[in-house]
Amino acid sequence: MKTILVTGGAGFLGSHLVDRLIDRGDSVICVDNFFTGQKKNIEHLLDHDRFTLREHDIIDPLLDVEVEQVYNLACPASPIHYQLNPIRTVKANTIGMINMLGLAKRTGARLLQASTSEVYGDPEVHPQPESYVGHVNTLGPRACYDEGKRVAETLCMDYHRSNGVDIRIVRIFNTYGPRMHPEDGRVVSNFVIQALRDEPISIYGDGSQTRSFCYVDELVDAMIRMMDQEEHIGPVNIGNPDEFTIKELAEKIIDLTGSKSKLTYADLPKDDPKQRQPDITLAKKVLGWEPSITLAEGLPKTIEYFHTLV
Ligand code: NAD
Ligand code: UDP
Repeated sequence: MKTILVTGGAGFLGSHLVDRLIDRGDSVICVDNFFTGQKKNIEHLLDHDRFTLREHDIIDPLLDVEVEQVYNLACPASPIHYQLNPIRTVKANTIGMINMLGLAKRTGARLLQASTSEVYGDPEVHPQPESYVGHVNTLGPRACYDEGKRVAETLCMDYHRSNGVDIRIVRIFNTYGPRMHPEDGRVVSNFVIQALRDEPISIYGDGSQTRSFCYVDELVDAMIRMMDQEEHIGPVNIGNPDEFTIKELAEKIIDLTGSKSKLTYADLPKDDPKQRQPDITLAKKVLGWEPSITLAEGLPKTIEYFHTLV
């Protein structure tokens, strides 16, 4: 049993991770400022004797906790949310990252950073291996997140090299499942809600851009495996390599919900990546991990969740 800090623990991925850690017997301190996190994601844990909630912003130092592991997930993750206050997004990934690495240094904890496929930008190499250095616009509306996550990785490596902090970096590709925020504007939540309401499905661009979607339970499994192995600090890509166009995703969701929705087309947002697929050769080798839940299996569970909200 370990004492583990999960920042962003009331969010979509964080709350599933916290559940898994509590289930296996760890004590968890969940730190969240509730910018995009939801109380109801962790409500069932509030009275648990191994769960502590700290409403706190990682942009401020956290000086009074002693832990053995830190999972750093605190950062708005959807384009709508991270662009709401782009300067705060940069601060979470710079000042917040320094605070969490400082905490890891002080306590001797291992820190796992939740990085992202966005460090590859609009990739010119396909699929994306960890060795690809990326193609990112420093000036565009996505830069606060993409460049923020890139410098967060840099800080992890520098604290590791200069201060001996024990780090792990995972680059997470698009993940979906229950507890996604209904207003985060991400493609799965938008399309499912629109389909359940028989409203037009909002495809941006012509729908030929691609993404590869991983079901949340498998993603959390990979994060825990990465944290608990001794051999590799990363970065390691984690995601499901099954690649779909956004139009295919829309058609699948209409089909699974039996919706009367029609497809509509709007402008593609600036710097929207045209294609994305993880090369997970390293994850298979280092973590012995490979996702197996298909969209056809994961989407119904996600639809069921949104059905309770719509
Ligand atoms: P989310 O928005 O649901 O979760 C982020 C959580 O962090 C929220 O609970 C939010 O309130 C909290 N938070 C934000 N800024 C904070 C701050 N300064 N201090 C304290 N708490 C703060 O998003 P998610 O999808 O669960 O993503 C979690 C992490 O995984 C993020 O770091 C994200 O960049 C990364 N990630 C997610 C995906 C994905 O597909 N879901 C893909 C790549 C990377
Ligand atoms: N997208 C879309 N309609 C929506 C929301 C998103 O067509 O209502 C597209 C978006 O332009 C992008 C893809 O779906 O090409 C994935 O978008 P999301 O915001 O989920 O994630 P990211 O772009 O960060 O991968």
